[in-house]
Amino acid sequence: MQPSVTKTPGNLIGGRWVQSSSGETLASLNPADSSDVVGYFQKSTADEAKQAIDVAKASQPAWARTPPSRRAEVLYRAAQLIEGRKNQIAELITREEGKTIAESIAEVSRAAANFKFYAGQAYLTGGETLPADEPSTFLYTLRQPLGVISVITPWNFPFTIPTRKVAPALASGNAVVFKPASLTPLTGLMLGEVLTEAGLPDGVINVITGPASTVGAELVANPHINAITFTGSYEVGDKIQHVAATTCRTQLEMGGKNPIIILEDCDLDLAVACSVQGAFGMSGQACTGTSRAIVAKGVADQYTDKLISATRRLTIGNGVIDGVKMGPLADSEQEKTVLSYIEIAKQEGAELLFGGAKLSGDGYDRGYFIQPSIFGRVKGDMRIAQEEIFGPVLAIIEVEDFDEAIAMANNVEYGLSASICTRDLGRAQLFAELIDAGMVKVNQPTTGVALNAPFGGLKKSSTDTFREQGAIAMDFFTRLKTVSVRYGG
Ligand code: NAD
Repeated sequence: MQPSVTKTPGNLIGGRWVQSSSGETLASLNPADSSDVVGYFQKSTADEAKQAIDVAKASQPAWARTPPSRRAEVLYRAAQLIEGRKNQIAELITREEGKTIAESIAEVSRAAANFKFYAGQAYLTGGETLPADEPSTFLYTLRQPLGVISVITPWNFPFTIPTRKVAPALASGNAVVFKPASLTPLTGLMLGEVLTEAGLPDGVINVITGPASTVGAELVANPHINAITFTGSYEVGDKIQHVAATTCRTQLEMGGKNPIIILEDCDLDLAVACSVQGAFGMSGQACTGTSRAIVAKGVADQYTDKLISATRRLTIGNGVIDGVKMGPLADSEQEKTVLSYIEIAKQEGAELLFGGAKLSGDGYDRGYFIQPSIFGRVKGDMRIAQEEIFGPVLAIIEVEDFDEAIAMANNVEYGLSASICTRDLGRAQLFAELIDAGMVKVNQPTTGVALNAPFGGLKKSSTDTFREQGAIAMDFFTRLKTVSVRYGG
């Protein structure tokens, strides 16, 4: 039984699609129309997560011994299957998560590209040879897979984020147990389906849906897990870090409070386009989304006027409709949180310049649609300037100069992405050096990352140990042994 042909797929454990012994399923709803049930998914038990881990552990050694060319073939085939089903997968993402169909298609394309990239890495990732001090001695490092990897992911990029973890994990010979977020489980299961069809041996990928309290907890605490790669909120990441065994490697990619700095010498139209894309793309539900515009006083009024005009032109609606630029929030909890921050901002004395309301009327009433929102007169210590909102809310903070802009940008607990708009290359370079962010952008939105470059943050945004993405991602999924061979007298 395969997820794409059934409304109630099972978990993928050991190559078989199996229903949970709990006998319970949960509904996955369309955030643009909550009366639309996308499908049902298994409310799995901790015991089933344990079974999936046991199966992964048993399947991993043979996969690790599989020649890299064969591993690469499977990953490349997965990329082709994803490309062949681009529209089907994109429609599923839009129905489960809400983003626009153009955003979903871009997400699926990136997922396919990730598989191609890591197919190549299966051939390339090795150790190094070192000059040996002793005669007739060959000194080298041997790079080996870790074993069983827990993959725990959020709902906002339900297909690409799992692929940028699963593809390097598999390329380097690990087995995976993957728990998708419960708002987007069917998209997650689709990944299991594609990899199974691509010829991945049974048990090397296992996908198990259900509550964080059962499935998630087992995927963190089980002693057979060798590494956990997690993307999600700081609060959950912090818990995972405290529960995981000392011998279990962790990679935690967490929240952001990303600034765009607008200097007086910038191309203002470009700065506005970057701000709108960064703040309101994906309904502001991107970890690298822009939530603070830190603007030099001399251009603040002009920037604000242009920003409001551009935001007013955004069409909000069901992401499947042509021309819609901003879809709904992902669920009622997201909507509640974002609306509550809008109230907090007003109470703290920020000035609502645009938006701020839930949308109602035809096409909106059954979904979680809110207006993109812009606040002015924001002070650096206000909650909307400090806390991750994860919605389409942009806070404008005026500053005197470049130095104050940097200080303001760094005055938060997160450090994921940051952008500056300026024509002064010297300032741009200084910004790259001084900013507390793992992803630095110049004259670009805070969102959007190259697939072959390292990805990760500083401070509360990341464990800042192993980077995701690019060739360097292979480091997390492999360990080194040092080997010294005496081959002569
Ligand atoms: P979340 O932290 O609530 O959940 C993430 C995943 O963890 C889900 O699959 C969830 O079921 C699971 N989980 C929750 N509690 C758990 C526990 N105790 N043990 C094990 N697993 C548990 O995050 P979310 O609401 O799905 O996503 C939004 C957050 O993700 C935002 O903070 C956003 O910034 C962050 N995010 C970060 C990045 C990045 O790369 N830095 C990318 C996307 C999203």
